[in-house]
Amino acid sequence: MTKEMECMCMNCGVSNYFPADDIALEDPSAVDSKIIDSLLVCEQCGGQLMLVGNAGEEPHYRFK
Ligand SMILES: [Zn+2]
Repeated sequence: MTKEMECMCMNCGVSNYFPADDIALEDPSAVDSKIIDSLLVCEQCGGQLMLVGNAGEEPHYRFK
């Protein structure tokens, strides 16, 4: 079973869910940056996404 991650659109604020394997951060070296690579965009408006955390969990996921 693939884990789903919650990503929030920075444009319209809608939550999008993607399998963790599909998610890549724009700048993995920046610890504070949760901006998701532009390969994935908001399904509603095409806006840029920000990683929130595991689907249904508190937003304290650390990307490693
Ligand atoms: Zn959006």
